[in-house]
Amino acid sequence: MKRSSIHAISIFLLLFLIGSSLIFLQGTSQLNKGSSYLPIILAALFLASTITVIYVIVTKNYHNKALNKVAYLDSVTGTGNYNKFKIDAQALLKNNKTREYAIVYLDISKFSYINDTFGYSAGDIILAQVAKEMELEMKESECSARISADNFVCLVEYESENSLLQRCEQFHHQCDQQLSQINSQFKIQFACSIYKVSPGETDIPSMVGKAEIAYKTIGDIHKASAVFYDDRIQNEYLQKKKLESAMSSSLDNNDFLVYLQPKIDLASKEIVGTEALSRWQHPTEGLIMPDQFISLFESNGFILELDFYIYEKVCQLLRKWLDAGEAVMPISVNVSKAHLANQQFGSQLKALIEQYRISPNLLELELTESILFHDVEAAVSMILDLKNLGFSILIDDFGSGYSSLNLLKDLTVDVLKLDKEFFRKDGMMEKDKIIVDGIIRIAKDLNLKILSEGVETQDQVDFLIEAGCHYVQGYFFAKPMPVEVFEALVGYQ
Ligand code: C2E
Ligand code: CA
Ligand code: CA
Repeated sequence: MKRSSIHAISIFLLLFLIGSSLIFLQGTSQLNKGSSYLPIILAALFLASTITVIYVIVTKNYHNKALNKVAYLDSVTGTGNYNKFKIDAQALLKNNKTREYAIVYLDISKFSYINDTFGYSAGDIILAQVAKEMELEMKESECSARISADNFVCLVEYESENSLLQRCEQFHHQCDQQLSQINSQFKIQFACSIYKVSPGETDIPSMVGKAEIAYKTIGDIHKASAVFYDDRIQNEYLQKKKLESAMSSSLDNNDFLVYLQPKIDLASKEIVGTEALSRWQHPTEGLIMPDQFISLFESNGFILELDFYIYEKVCQLLRKWLDAGEAVMPISVNVSKAHLANQQFGSQLKALIEQYRISPNLLELELTESILFHDVEAAVSMILDLKNLGFSILIDDFGSGYSSLNLLKDLTVDVLKLDKEFFRKDGMMEKDKIIVDGIIRIAKDLNLKILSEGVETQDQVDFLIEAGCHYVQGYFFAKPMPVEVFEALVGYQ
């Protein structure tokens, strides 16, 4: 029933009640004079209308409560939802003008893993427990809510960055304890971002939005589990949005360029290959280096398109050199870990080289070492698939992560590319030398070729010759360069 009709009925009944009471009073005086049954009827009506009015009021309250429940309660956790949070937070800010506040945005890391491992109902139990703990954690002048999937938000009093971080940590500990009582395997990690509310600020969605912006930088930019929103984050976010808004049209306009960095054979000192590295000739920002867009494209999925665009440009280049009758050397391309999920990757690449009539041994594939640890099974099967198709495989950035020489014996790779971190300009550390020497020896025993990247000095070159490294790449010999410059360097027409 609509609220307005409930009001109308109640007013009607109220009037009826007053009216009948008056008549009753008049009737009793007449009854005293012994005249009729009218007063008894009126008394009954009076009673009925009183009961009806009470009924209407009670139902109205019930309906209001039900409506409030739908509007302000989160059905999964049974605690207040974002709508309620917005109202409560605004009221708190209004009533506590002298107090300093912060918005904390909290995400349960890898929550999909929890759902996948323990099931959705276990996921719901965890969400409800976190929400409950959060509600208990709130002081009278604070409030909280779950705002979406595994994301929570709270408005808390602010004393200092440190004390707030400590409180977040304490809260995590508290949740972990409570969850382990439900199931000892329920372990969660939080990632949280914090926005310090400015004096007089009242727009809750905008504040939560800023905390969310900071949150989005946790993984790809800051690699931390807690981040405070500041101007730098705002700028990074705007820059990211700017790049994202231009990426597709830039691809259509051929604004992504292939740069080539030569690979040198240490025995002959000849250029024996080259690596294709992308550059973005942005319409307004100038030439942008890959470290500013590759991880962004990996997080938004655009890398899948960019990589194939680069592969096609490389195939076109190889075809051009072949048609010109040059003694063509292989070009290596970088394969993002994002391709691991694509089981058609190998066949798509094969279709591409066939389109340009390129032999697979001219296109080498550089897979970063981190791919192996991202999803070992998928990586091993992808590498096997690519090898069967005839491509050469190179493990890039070797030694930068949890290198597993042991894993190498099961991988059908051709070249190990030692990470440039081993070769620092100010001279290699003694320990780096021992490690590089050891890796080269083992890799040779496994019949792998070694390429060292980031080689910048004569000393490094001498050391690598001594250690038995096969190829080098680095500023000492050549920086990545535009295709025309490379063609001139190697004497292609
Ligand atoms: P990477 O594949 O490890 O490439 C080597 C990086 O080291 C290149 O940076 C190169 O310019 C730089 N470098 C080469 N020699 C030296 C040296 O002597 N000293 C120093 N300090 N640096 C050197 P760049 O071109 O900025 O590329 C950065 C990373 O971006 C690449 O690292 C690669 O992982 C990624 N990347 C570049 N283009 C693509 C692409 O088309 N697709 C994918 N998926 N990743 C790409
Ligand atoms: Ca590479
Ligand atoms: Ca590398």
